[in-house]
Amino acid sequence: MKKAVFLDRDGTLIKDAHYLKDPAKVEIIDGVGDALSRMGAAGYLIFMHTNQSGIERGYYDWGDVHACNLRMLELLGLPEDFFEDTCIAPEWPDKENGYRKPSARFERETIAKYELTPMECWMVGDKWIDAQTGLSAGMCATLVQTGKPIEDEIATKAMDARVPVHLDLLEFVEQTLKLKK
Ligand SMILES: [Mg+2]
Repeated sequence: MKKAVFLDRDGTLIKDAHYLKDPAKVEIIDGVGDALSRMGAAGYLIFMHTNQSGIERGYYDWGDVHACNLRMLELLGLPEDFFEDTCIAPEWPDKENGYRKPSARFERETIAKYELTPMECWMVGDKWIDAQTGLSAGMCATLVQTGKPIEDEIATKAMDARVPVHLDLLEFVEQTLKLKK
């Protein structure tokens, strides 16, 4: 039985900066390093799935996104290959058949490739589309309050769908995954 955590980037691992392009503006959210090391130590495979429509919109390019990802890992003191796999979805929101969340194409392909048990996997993000992505791949999902505000409507949807809402990634790791330091 293989378990995994799929992490959103902006608003979950790093502070949400509008169309982040400059690696110097990458800021790690408190507790993320600790959360990642606890999940890794507990045997979770760790993936990252980030929507980056700024690529197709022409605001920045793949190199900018890779540079920001590398800066994030550098600030966390983690190796460049820390994530088992990373999915950067460059598409416009209305484009179909791509990897942009709430499409769960990356999750489905990854579940098959790594022979993951979907019910043992979690999707973590700050937007409802993140939760939807996990749920539609048959995984569990949680929302964190370190990015976009969780409006009442989303909180209600989350409750109905049994999606726990946490303050941040570390609280999720402590309270839902129950991983101690
Ligand atoms: Mg986000």
